[in-house]
Amino acid sequence: MSETIFDKIIAGEISAQVVYEDDRVLAFRDINPQAPVHVLVIPKKKVGRFAELTQCETGFVGEFFQGVARVAAELKLNSNGYRIVINNGRDGQQTVEYLHAHILGGRGLTWPPG
Ligand code: 5GP
Repeated sequence: MSETIFDKIIAGEISAQVVYEDDRVLAFRDINPQAPVHVLVIPKKKVGRFAELTQCETGFVGEFFQGVARVAAELKLNSNGYRIVINNGRDGQQTVEYLHAHILGGRGLTWPPG
């Protein structure tokens, strides 16, 4: 798997505005925010994309999603709500080949997604 910008953030080679970290996940603000709160959550153990979760331990998958929910709670988004987005592959417009969940909140989001 080739190195991505998120590998460099995990390694501390590139700085990011980290909002939460534990043994399993790292969460940092998106450089190009699409909402007042726009945070990316990545697993510390690298997975390229969502589709690869079929090959991962279910415990790992569960811990990742629990981590995402924990970050949203830490960001105080639970009362008003928020959106989780995971882009997968070319048609999903995934631009960084390192699994990440977008947490978007802080405004009323539109649907279809916007
Ligand atoms: P994707 O399109 O792959 O789902 O989302 C990748 C996200 O990473 C984009 O929203 C983009 O703004 C964000 N991003 C790209 N490069 C950097 C960076 O160097 N630092 C941070 N914090 N976010 C980045």
